[in-house]
Amino acid sequence: MKPTILAYKTLPDDVLAYLREHAEVLTLDAGAARLPDALAAAFKEADGAIGSSMKITPAMLEGAARLKALSTISVGFDQFDVDDLTRRGIVLAHTPDVLTESTADTVFALILASARRVVELADWVRAGQWRESLGEAQFGVDVHGKTLGIVGLGRIGGALARRAALGFGMRVRYTNRSPNEAAERAFGAKRVALGELLAESDFVCLQVPLTPETRHLIGTAELKAMKRSAILINASRGATVDEAALIEALRDGTILAAGLDVFEREPLPADSPLLAMKNVVALPHIGSATRETRHAMSRCAAENLVAALAGTLARNIVNPEALGPSRR
Ligand code: NAP
Repeated sequence: MKPTILAYKTLPDDVLAYLREHAEVLTLDAGAARLPDALAAAFKEADGAIGSSMKITPAMLEGAARLKALSTISVGFDQFDVDDLTRRGIVLAHTPDVLTESTADTVFALILASARRVVELADWVRAGQWRESLGEAQFGVDVHGKTLGIVGLGRIGGALARRAALGFGMRVRYTNRSPNEAAERAFGAKRVALGELLAESDFVCLQVPLTPETRHLIGTAELKAMKRSAILINASRGATVDEAALIEALRDGTILAAGLDVFEREPLPADSPLLAMKNVVALPHIGSATRETRHAMSRCAAENLVAALAGTLARNIVNPEALGPSRR
């Protein structure tokens, strides 16, 4: 008998067709998929589920006795309580690698836009302010030849280091709990303590996963440790930065500017002080949001789920412990 899969995110037609070859597929419309109670009720009918952007709490899984696998269309899995899933024997799969390059492109877009004031000055032209040749008031700062500090040099951090070192002649510093020797060899990246990275870098880019250890990794003290001329870039998760402390630092001139793809509350409220600051570039969490990459992520997540339910999934598993000792 075919398993039943719940899709709680709209999927491309070909991906849905692929799932239907392997399973009965239940779908939730976008409105219902945002309601924890509707999602919890639907989990009870499913052997597996695929989706993204919803916090899945242990309470929502109570009574979901058939559920064997969850497949998130993302690399980050901070929306799940992984230990709880493992205790329930539910495998969690994610989509690393397929989004690495697009997300690194987004980070670089934020670096360039913040340093060269691209959004602010494009708005200035649109508002009819360009009436004579430019002066100091419109100058930005250079990116090439500067020092880039990457907090969390993994897959995306590595793609960022490649762009920075090979494309822009930048020095790369990074923090990780363990060394990334490949990036050290290929891009001259140097592993340093967080304090040294903050003090030396012209651009500080966060690319760590959100975990209890990385929540508010950058707060008042860390912002004060940065150069006054430095720019903070966050395309990891909003809560790795203490947003209230960042707002204060940007207001006080503790740092020069920020480029942000992620926020503590998403969608970012329209009255956020960040949106009133000229030295902030704010994007709506577009890290991986290109047609090609979002399609590849959906496809990867669907294949992960089908394989997990067939007992053949061998990669992209967040909690291999959930498979039991024989299949780890
Ligand atoms: P990854 O390959 O696992 O890289 C994460 C890096 O962070 C690793 O090098 C890891 O090294 C380091 N790290 C983990 N915990 C740390 C800690 N406590 N202190 C310092 N470093 C730590 O993951 P990835 O594929 O590059 O993705 C990274 C994150 O980017 C995701 O988790 C996701 O939240 C975010 N992301 C955002 C978007 C977006 O749309 N803006 C898109 C894709 C991904 P060690 O283990 O050695 O510490």
